Amino acid sequence: MSVQSTCPETFDVVIVGCGVSGSTLAFYLASAGISVLAIEKETFPRYHIGESLTGMVRPIIDDMGLAEEMDRRQFPVKGGVKVMGKEAKREFFVPVLHSTWQVKREEFDQILLERAIEAGAQHCQGTVKEVIREGDKVVGVKYQPREGDKTLKTVRGSIVVDATGQATLFANQGVAGQRINYDEFSKQVAVFAQFKNALRDPGEMGDNTFIFHAQRYHWSWFIPISPEIVSIGIVVPTAKVSECGGKEETLSWGLENINPDLQKRVKEAEYGEVRSIGNYSYSVDPFV
Ligand SMILES: Cc1cc2nc3c(=O)[nH]c(=O)nc-3n(C[C@H](O)[C@H](O)[C@H](O)COP(=O)(O)OP(=O)(O)OC[C@H]3O[C@@H](n4cnc5c(N)ncnc54)[C@H](O)[C@@H]3O)c2cc1C
Repeated sequence: MSVQSTCPETFDVVIVGCGVSGSTLAFYLASAGISVLAIEKETFPRYHIGESLTGMVRPIIDDMGLAEEMDRRQFPVKGGVKVMGKEAKREFFVPVLHSTWQVKREEFDQILLERAIEAGAQHCQGTVKEVIREGDKVVGVKYQPREGDKTLKTVRGSIVVDATGQATLFANQGVAGQRINYDEFSKQVAVFAQFKNALRDPGEMGDNTFIFHAQRYHWSWFIPISPEIVSIGIVVPTAKVSECGGKEETLSWGLENINPDLQKRVKEAEYGEVRSIGNYSYSVDPFV
């Protein structure tokens, strides 16, 4: 992927963040002939959580001309979500509105960004450090092209979009309202890893998302994201992580205790780096 080291200084729209939202917006704006710059701090491909796409995403992927590429990458096709309680009678299946995909975000986000660039969006790497205001309007940003660079670069836009996801740039800069965590949910932590040799259901059912529910605020996801890899995450109250002694221990605890079916599925499995994330349920008000 070609990344510009220097960018022109003025655009119709400047987008900060090239996750799924930023790149999709950049694609549509560029396709409409609007000049757009999308700035991203990470070097792609980069890991990200959020692998099970919703049915509503399918028509957008079709519209962006990416359906063939999704199949070429062998992303599993998701027809729905199977929810399993501890007892068999507590099982149900929720079909998605349109069949969709489970993705490796490191690949998917790169595909979206490349598509935006093909459509005419400009992209440059850099970490936005400040927004530039004139009165109550945001008219540009200052970004650091590379870590360690002392000088910030300036870029201006008639519209500046915060697509930084959980980084909530505008809230941090006092442009939007404060980030407000939802008390009950923000006391939960997700601990997750990518697994090889996890046991899937046979046939198409094996490509769906499985949710294993144990009790309130104790559950797990099981998302096949390639022919070999399943993303498994355990969601528990924060206190459980302290009780277990860390994220690795919490994952082991969850695999053993959340659901007997999950336990069976990971018996022969091995997994890589264990990651965790907390405080991910919040709102920003006003959103601007
Ligand atoms: C535990 C967990 C599980 C989830 N599972 C699912 C799921 O299965 N399915 C689903 O649909 N969603 C899921 N989500 C939600 C999903 O991850 C998000 O909705 C989605 O990633 C949001 O996309 P985005 O483009 O808004 O932000 P992001 O994808 O987070 O992209 C933001 C981008 O902005 C960049 N950035 C941040 N700050 C700056 C800066 N200052 N300068 C430049 N760039 C910056 C970041 O590097 C990043 O690339 C999950 C979320 C969590 C926490």
